[in-house]
Amino acid sequence: MKQFSIASVALFVTVTAIAQETDTDREIKDIASRPEIQRAFEIIVELEPETERNLIELTEIPAPPFKEEVRAARYLELMRDAGIEDASIDEVGNVLGEWPGTEGHETVALVAHLDTVFPEGTDVTVKRKGDQLHAPGIGDDTRGLALMIAVIQAMKRAEVKTKDNVLFVASVGEEGLGDLRGVKHLFREGGPRIDQFIAVDGGSTERVLNHATGSHRYRLTFKGPGGHSFGAFGLGNPAHALSRAIYYFDQAAGEYVISGTKTTYNIGRIGGGTSINSIPFENWAEVDMRSNDPKRLEEIDAIFQKAVKRALDEQNELRRDGEPLTVDVDLIGDRPSGLVDPSTLLIQRALAATRYFGVEPSLTTGSTDANVPIARGIPATTIGRGGDGGGGHSLHEWWANKDGHLGIQKALLILVASAGLAVK
Ligand SMILES: [Zn+2]
Repeated sequence: MKQFSIASVALFVTVTAIAQETDTDREIKDIASRPEIQRAFEIIVELEPETERNLIELTEIPAPPFKEEVRAARYLELMRDAGIEDASIDEVGNVLGEWPGTEGHETVALVAHLDTVFPEGTDVTVKRKGDQLHAPGIGDDTRGLALMIAVIQAMKRAEVKTKDNVLFVASVGEEGLGDLRGVKHLFREGGPRIDQFIAVDGGSTERVLNHATGSHRYRLTFKGPGGHSFGAFGLGNPAHALSRAIYYFDQAAGEYVISGTKTTYNIGRIGGGTSINSIPFENWAEVDMRSNDPKRLEEIDAIFQKAVKRALDEQNELRRDGEPLTVDVDLIGDRPSGLVDPSTLLIQRALAATRYFGVEPSLTTGSTDANVPIARGIPATTIGRGGDGGGGHSLHEWWANKDGHLGIQKALLILVASAGLAVK
C-alpha cells in the first residue's frame, strides 16, 4: 500500500501545480491589463465586420498550390492599408511586413499561409448558411490571413509598441507538394533574422503546437522497355516490380510501426501502363511517410529504400529478355520534424494566453509552417485561428464567427508578450 500512497501524493502535487498561477500567467495578465492592449482588444471587436469582409474577399481569390500571386498581391494592399506601408513580396511570393521594435535586437514572426489545397477551377464563392460561412479554404488558412490583418490594425491604432521587431508573413506553399517552400525560403542562408515563430493555422482554440510531424514523400517510378504481353513476354515488367516493392515495404514497415513513437506510411496513388495486353514501360506510386521522431522517419525511409532495391534486383533476376528495369526514387516532399521543449518561454506564453481567455490549452502535434523553425531549434508554435469551423481540405469547409475575436486577441497577446511590450 506504500506504493499507492506515494502515487496519490504525486498526483496531488501535479494537480496543484496545474491549478496554480505560473510566472508566465502573471506576465500575460500584466500585459493584457495595459491600457494600450485593452484598447487593441476593443479595436479587434470593433473591426469584426471589416475582418469578415476581408475573410470573404480573400477566400474568393483562388490560391491553388503554386498559384498564390493574385491573392498575395491583394494581401500586400491589405497589409499596407493596415499600416505597414513598406510591406513587400519576396522572391518566392511570401508577403512580408516589418514592424520595427523600439530596441530591435530580435525578431518574432507571425505567419499565416496564402495557399489552399484546392486546384484551379474550384468554386470558391462564399455562401452564408445561418451563422456559418461556407467555401473551400475559408478556415484553412484564409481565416489566419484575416486574423493577421486585424492584429496589425489593432496594434497600429492602439499604438502598441514592442521592444523586438515583428515580421508579419503571409507564406506560400504550406500545403501538400508546396512542401513549406515559403517558410523554407524565409529560413534560407542570408534570410531575415527570426528568433521566435508563431504560425496561425488550425481550428481548435486550445491548440498550442510544440511537436512537428515530419514527412518524406516520394514518387517511385519503375521503367522498362515495354512491349507486347505475348510477343515480348520475358521483358522486365515495371508493374510487377512496383507491386513487389510495395509488398516488401508494407511487410517490413508494418512490423516496424507497431511500437515506438507514432510513425506512419501510405501508398496514396499508383499508376502507369498502356493496356491490358502490353508489358508497361512505366509504373509509378506516390508514397508518404510520417513520424514525430526524426530518427524514426530516417529508419522507415531506409526500410522503403531497401524494399525498392530488393524488388528491382529480384525482378531483373526473373527477366528472361531485354534491358534491365530501372527505378527513379524522387523525393517530392521533405518536411522536417522536431520538438519544442514545453518549458520554452514562447510555449509557456502561448499556454498562459490561452488560459487567460478561459480555455484550458493542450499541447499538440502537427505538420505546419512551424516545422521548419522547430527542426532548426528555433522556438516556434502554431496556434488556432479562432471561431468555429470544420470540413478542412474538403469542398464543404466552413467557418463561423463564434467568439472569433478571442482568437485574434489571443494571437496579439502572445505576439506582444513574445516581442516584449515597450512601456511608453
Ligand atoms: Zn493550413
